[in-house]
Amino acid sequence: MKDLQPIIASGIELDKPIIIAGPCSAETPQQVMDTARQLARTGIKVFRAGVWKPRTKPGGFEGIGTPALEWLQQVKAETGMSTAVEVATKEHTEAALEHGIDILWIGARTSGNPFAMQEIANVLASAPDTPVLVKNPMNPDLELWIGALERLYNAGLRRLGAIHRGFSVYGKHLYRNQPQWSLPLELCRRVPGLPILCDPSHLGGKRELVAPLSQHAIDMGFDGLVIESHCNPDCAWSDKDQQVTPEVLSVILNHLVYREAAANGAENLSELRRQIDHLDNELLDILNRRMQVCREIGNYKKANGLQVVQAGRYDAIMNSRVSSAAALGMSEDFMRSILTAIHEESVAQQLKIMKS
Ligand code: PEP
Ligand code: MN
Repeated sequence: MKDLQPIIASGIELDKPIIIAGPCSAETPQQVMDTARQLARTGIKVFRAGVWKPRTKPGGFEGIGTPALEWLQQVKAETGMSTAVEVATKEHTEAALEHGIDILWIGARTSGNPFAMQEIANVLASAPDTPVLVKNPMNPDLELWIGALERLYNAGLRRLGAIHRGFSVYGKHLYRNQPQWSLPLELCRRVPGLPILCDPSHLGGKRELVAPLSQHAIDMGFDGLVIESHCNPDCAWSDKDQQVTPEVLSVILNHLVYREAAANGAENLSELRRQIDHLDNELLDILNRRMQVCREIGNYKKANGLQVVQAGRYDAIMNSRVSSAAALGMSEDFMRSILTAIHEESVAQQLKIMKS
């Protein structure tokens, strides 16, 4: 994929960082216009909204469909913002093109499906100037992600970009989708010149993670952000936990720190602090996963009539972790107190299971 071209929307090349914002779903004309007006006032240039929503289970809100494309036309006419929607089939793609949508994006459930990708690429062959952003597939498969981009490239599209939205894993974790930052980095190496945006909303799945994940992405040199924003997030019909109001979005964007190529002392310090914030989040995620396993062990002990505290096992854990910590230059006392606190919480969680 050699001769990639810049992303152009409404005839204008988008400045970096490319910021795309808007609700997870277009719900009503009022919700779309209210959100769009507020976003336009804060300087957002590209408005996103899902019109066809891929839902995990039947019965949820599956999007308004084609009629909502007219609401997006109205957003463009009134605010001047460019528009972006997700397409997953040949019919969606045709409808989006007919309605003059500026940018299309391919969702994570579609980019991993070669049949759907080929079908979409075949439609887009007749509109090769269309900018298309391809989200990573649900599973961390870089070849599949590149394959989806190649199908579009082979159909003649050159205004391509990628969106990193994290990878799905089973169970409850701090992040809704695991970041695995090494994959977008490798994509950047494999496809030089491809703009890569980050979607902190779907990565984190929670409002409070949007700011730190956005900063992390900017620090890593991503070319832009796709952020879900809704005029009334608590009442959103999909993804309500991760959407922020346009006002909060504006605060988040205004607080992002863009690193200079040659950082001075103060910038170095804030970069190191951001690394600490990120590592603390990872620590929290690992602790959460450890507690989940402890609870599974608790269920096993309960079913098999075993007591919660197995002294021999605790002793073995303590000795091995303390000596590993010492080998890494940390004091034995420090490791002992951390393990004691973790063990106390694990026991408390298992006792709760015994009593349940
Ligand atoms: C979305 O952007 O609203 C969406 C459905 O995203 P993803 O494909 O990343 O789940
Ligand atoms: Mn969403």
